[in-house]
Amino acid sequence: MDPDGDIKTTHRGFQCTLCNVILPNKPSLEQHVKGRKHRTLSTVRATRKAQEQHSVFVSGIKPEICQTDIAEYFQQFGLVSDVIMDKDKGVYAIVQFSDTESIQAALACVEHQMMGLKLRVKPREKKEFKLIPKNKSDSRNLQKFLDRLKPDLCQLVSVDAQMQHLVERFQLGENEKKARGLLVQLLQEVFIEFFPDCQILPFGSSVNTFGIHSCDLDLYLDLENTKVFQARTKSNTEQAGEGMSDDGHSEDSILSDIDLSTASPAEVLDLVAAVLKRCVPSVHKVQVVSSARLPVVKFQHRELNLQGDITLNNRLAVRNTRFLQLCSGMEDRLRPLVFTIRYWAKQKQLAGNPSGAGPLLNNYALTLLVIFFLQNCEPPVLLTVDQLKDLACEEEECVIEGWDCTFPSQPIAVPPSKNTQALCILLSGFFSFYAKFDFASSVISVREGRALPITDFLSQNKEEEAMQEQHASKTPHHNPKLGPLNLLDPFELSHNVAGNLNERSQRCFQRECQEAEKYCRSLQYQRKSTKGKSWGLVRLFTPHGDIPQTKTEQLTISIPFKSASLPEGLRNQLHMAGDGFRLLWFQKVCTAVEGVLRRVLRCHLTPSTDAVFGEDLDAHTAEEMDTSSASLNTSLNDSCDSVESQNEASSLGTAVVGAKRPLSSGSDASVSPQGKKPRLARGGKSDSPHWVCVQKHIVWAGRRKVRRELIKDTDARPEGSCMEMESRVTAHIIEKEPELKEPLEFKAQAQMVGRTESTKAVLKLEPTNDKTGVFHDFFHFLEAFLPKMVETLLEKETG
Ligand code: ATP
Ligand code: MG
Repeated sequence: MDPDGDIKTTHRGFQCTLCNVILPNKPSLEQHVKGRKHRTLSTVRATRKAQEQHSVFVSGIKPEICQTDIAEYFQQFGLVSDVIMDKDKGVYAIVQFSDTESIQAALACVEHQMMGLKLRVKPREKKEFKLIPKNKSDSRNLQKFLDRLKPDLCQLVSVDAQMQHLVERFQLGENEKKARGLLVQLLQEVFIEFFPDCQILPFGSSVNTFGIHSCDLDLYLDLENTKVFQARTKSNTEQAGEGMSDDGHSEDSILSDIDLSTASPAEVLDLVAAVLKRCVPSVHKVQVVSSARLPVVKFQHRELNLQGDITLNNRLAVRNTRFLQLCSGMEDRLRPLVFTIRYWAKQKQLAGNPSGAGPLLNNYALTLLVIFFLQNCEPPVLLTVDQLKDLACEEEECVIEGWDCTFPSQPIAVPPSKNTQALCILLSGFFSFYAKFDFASSVISVREGRALPITDFLSQNKEEEAMQEQHASKTPHHNPKLGPLNLLDPFELSHNVAGNLNERSQRCFQRECQEAEKYCRSLQYQRKSTKGKSWGLVRLFTPHGDIPQTKTEQLTISIPFKSASLPEGLRNQLHMAGDGFRLLWFQKVCTAVEGVLRRVLRCHLTPSTDAVFGEDLDAHTAEEMDTSSASLNTSLNDSCDSVESQNEASSLGTAVVGAKRPLSSGSDASVSPQGKKPRLARGGKSDSPHWVCVQKHIVWAGRRKVRRELIKDTDARPEGSCMEMESRVTAHIIEKEPELKEPLEFKAQAQMVGRTESTKAVLKLEPTNDKTGVFHDFFHFLEAFLPKMVETLLEKETG
């Protein structure tokens, strides 16, 4: 089972030294060894070993020597299968032979003279194969880079100067741009041979003004004209027999293998990959990724040391690149802001999915978040896309795939902003804006420059379709995929560009904004240290430890509003409730919480008049509470119907979701009158439901085992809901285990949070009688169990 000696026995079980993991027992060890990670690493190690045994290390070369020169020279000792050269300076190479005898021959040669150079040839060093986890090596690199950046940033005079410095340090240089331009030209020349009349168009960060050294080269291969060419050639050939097309292109091309009008993107990309591999010098590592949202061919260019992506059918991306260019041209402060925020997000591991796919923000989405913030400044720094559209002239009209992509082609057409805030103020404003943003209930629209209420997207009705058609004239478009962060593309309005984010990445983004906001209020942010200490951006970029939780948070359970997981019926009800949706959702959550405590966990519940969130509530939590959605006196065991709650909500004047909130100016985080946070009504008796709960059994202990047994022992797997299963688990524990010597008593109170931060229900628990000392165990169990169960119950909610 362990031919390579990777497994060691330890006091904690077993350790796989190859993958650096601990396995607690034999079955998990067996599973691990059979698993993908272990197998892949074993293969990589074996390949490396074989390469080591088949190659020699050559030094003493010069940068002008190329791979072919080296391969030609070493052919005299045997068949050369590969030559790898160091990328930076070209001073050494690794020459790989097909067999080991050739190595002996090369090493036996006393003097190696090549093109007037004296080469040194050595056997390869035997290096132990060690796994360095990708994120660890990434963060080490980031740290190293920041260490080098620090002294330069610290000696500048202001945060604004530091932000400008980042642009100068990171931006693509003129030579880099030129080199990329030449590569595009070369690709164009090669591709046109195989795909007559095609066009290769760069988009993304290489050309959108936000590119940094080493950013990828995104290319769009436009085959529309090639399709026309192919169709025309086909009909000509049919009429006149075999031969040449009317415009002289030879038909004897790659095109004879494929019909572009019917081929799938993957089929076309296979051909593109073949052309890249065979006909473009220095291109290697060509790979078709058909599973991506937009299938892509990835490749690398050796000399330029860059990664390239070729996509088809991507005119929208070319257009949104033009839009970002326009924004940069309209507003000089955009680039330093975007460069700084991109770097901050990278440092905090909030953005940049290494392989393209992943749960983090991508740079495009991050840039749109900056633009949206600038549209919402007071006065606005950037115009909305709708406003830009109105400034465009007739010739600038542009519709792609039914989406209106009209905006002026030149920044000169756009009047300058009246906002004159300094960069450092805008940067701290960005953090305050998103620190308080109610992501759960909003859909960010860069098009309209405001947050749209999520309820508009919970149900697709005729009215909405009509509204959508105002923007999209031809094709009917579906709703965007909702998630924890909803950010509509400025043009493709049915696309959530942050649809890949998960709860965790959204939460981390907001939490980091809150941390950054706090830091921006401190003296170290704007004041240069006279003692040479870190200040300004340096501290903003420095990784910090985990944020300590406050005492109140420890006894608080949050149940987030997750629009994406709601069932159709409930989505419709919430949609109908409009601005009152939070209250209606909160009522449903309270009903579910009560159901879980009472029916699933067999707590004895009595509605109470004693608030847990009372006068003693700390200021921070009090600030969080939104009393405008309060007054919940209805019986929580019955779901309220939507009309009732709608009336209730409107009579209470619930927060207007999506209303444009002007930003505070300056690093002061206070919000403007419209955005003012309502305070919790002191004493808050009718604000939120609260209960006195009594639990007589340790229903939280050993549930997993009981659940396993119940599933095994029943003839048929229990039908129905998870709630039924969990109730049976509790019943089983109650039946088998003795009662607590003295029942546990605690108070529970639910509160609604939203509008000035992410919408959620917060349940606060406080023990009132815990003589047996079990409350904390119960609380920790509830922390994970309750939100999950509530979600399950809401999923079953049909209204
Ligand atoms: P970088 O490559 O430096 O990370 P980028 O802006 O080039 O930044 P990519 O992820 O390479 O980002 O994407 C290239 C381009 O593709 C973007 O500039 C944008 O035009 C388009 N794009 C990327 N992601 C999306 C998306 N989620 N929705 C719509 N268009 C996107
Ligand atoms: Mg890119």
